[in-house]
Amino acid sequence: MAGRRCGWRLCGLFGVVILVSGCAQHGDGQSKAGGFLERPFEGDYPDGWPFDHDLPLNVFSSAMMSSPGVLTWRGDNVVLPWGEGDGHDGHDWQLPEGTPLVATADGVVTVAGLDRPVRCGDRDVQAVVLRLRHDRPDGEVFESIYGHLSVLQVAVGDQVRGGQRVGLSGSTGCASGPHVHFGVRRLTGTNSGEPAIVDPFGWQGRFPDPWALHPRGAESRWLWRGAAPAGDFLLRSGRAPDQTGPSAAGEK
Ligand SMILES: [Zn+2]
Repeated sequence: MAGRRCGWRLCGLFGVVILVSGCAQHGDGQSKAGGFLERPFEGDYPDGWPFDHDLPLNVFSSAMMSSPGVLTWRGDNVVLPWGEGDGHDGHDWQLPEGTPLVATADGVVTVAGLDRPVRCGDRDVQAVVLRLRHDRPDGEVFESIYGHLSVLQVAVGDQVRGGQRVGLSGSTGCASGPHVHFGVRRLTGTNSGEPAIVDPFGWQGRFPDPWALHPRGAESRWLWRGAAPAGDFLLRSGRAPDQTGPSAAGEK
């Protein structure tokens, strides 16, 4: 989950910068009923690295280094300008160091502390991570996951309310600069019966969501209540969206 290359430092170096904020209008064709997550921070910040619907499992693997792009919401097959980044399991919003983070919904803190060590260049590092568990009235269970924090303001076992301050953003762990990695896991209704990461923006592609079909995957639904944070890619290649299917990205 940690952002090995989260793109923020590169964003100003490439000519085409498209920032779409307030993307609540996206998601056409997919019901937004039942959304329950509030944005995890105030304000609008670029999403420098999106969720990859084509196998969001490869972060820190060698496959990530060799893949040319990511398949993400609306079915676009996007080539990241820095040439890697496949398999991302969340969204990286480029918050400045110390930006307040808030609970996305009522829940309980299940993880608050240092993540497992990961190799980052020539050193081992640990991100400060936070997980909130949300038990829905309909029996579904989700987790909100925050990564790279600089400060934690809650502890394991705490009950939190949506909108409550839970910490400050940072760049702990393997991060190329300050940002928050935000991910959502479904603990119920997954294909394997095991928890599976999902995209809180759902899926708007013109073909079936490959992650919803994957044995270890799950359906992603639009989970935002009210205005969603920016969810489009900050950077787009000139490559046309994939109209036919995920084969160009393939499974690594
Ligand atoms: Zn990330």
